[in-house]
Amino acid sequence: MRQKIVAGNWKMNNNEAESTKLIKEINDAISNTTLDNTRVIVSPPFVNLSASINAAKDTSIEVVAQNMHQAKSGAYTGEISAEMLKSVGVKTVIIGHSERRSYFNETDEILAEKLNAVLANDMEAIFCFGEQLEERKLDNHLLEVGSQLRNALFHLKAEDFKNIILAYEPVWAIGTGETATPEQAQEMHAFVRNVLEKKFGKEVSDAVSILYGGSVKPANAEEIFSKEDVDGGLIGGASLKAEDFSAIIKAI
Ligand code: PEP
Repeated sequence: MRQKIVAGNWKMNNNEAESTKLIKEINDAISNTTLDNTRVIVSPPFVNLSASINAAKDTSIEVVAQNMHQAKSGAYTGEISAEMLKSVGVKTVIIGHSERRSYFNETDEILAEKLNAVLANDMEAIFCFGEQLEERKLDNHLLEVGSQLRNALFHLKAEDFKNIILAYEPVWAIGTGETATPEQAQEMHAFVRNVLEKKFGKEVSDAVSILYGGSVKPANAEEIFSKEDVDGGLIGGASLKAEDFSAIIKAI
């Protein structure tokens, strides 16, 4: 059975005290909920990772990083390596969020290197991809996503997918209040599974969790999560309030 996952992308929000408070609030809000086969993830900013990991100790909440550099170490002022994340207890990293792609010029080739660094450190990646509005309007969304997957993932081995979670995030739906319809999400997730099956085999495509991200909120989560190939969500804005995030978790 595929793992269900609800992951919060906190972006550049929450200082240390706010991060630990939010983790406690989320834990309180879900403590009476049975979460069978479901992972709950939050991603505080780098400087709050240690305090957040400490706050999440003895809870079922996992703390992951939002990004990392692909190099092992060196003259990369301001950057953080996989090994550094691992040394403070981080096991999972979000790679390729559309904000990283567009504001920090992260190309598919850079993302492929980041994935290699994650896997070389026995860590896990939440790999994000998705089309721009123009591509959707031109009906090129499948072509674009196919190309992002080929460029960043096709050099990997089938066994690497044990440590990869995928997140389809149409760029036009991130932080805009506009959500893909459950049918649009299902179409893309099924397409992604098909692309993976052709390249890596059915075992991989059946087992990999594919999250949907883009303005998921308590009001639309259940319908989106009900789709066959949607295994959960990557949640931005609505992950910053325990009430909303816990309601989304309960919708899985
Ligand atoms: C995101 O940043 O990954 C995201 C999906 O944001 P939002 O839920 O706010 O659209």
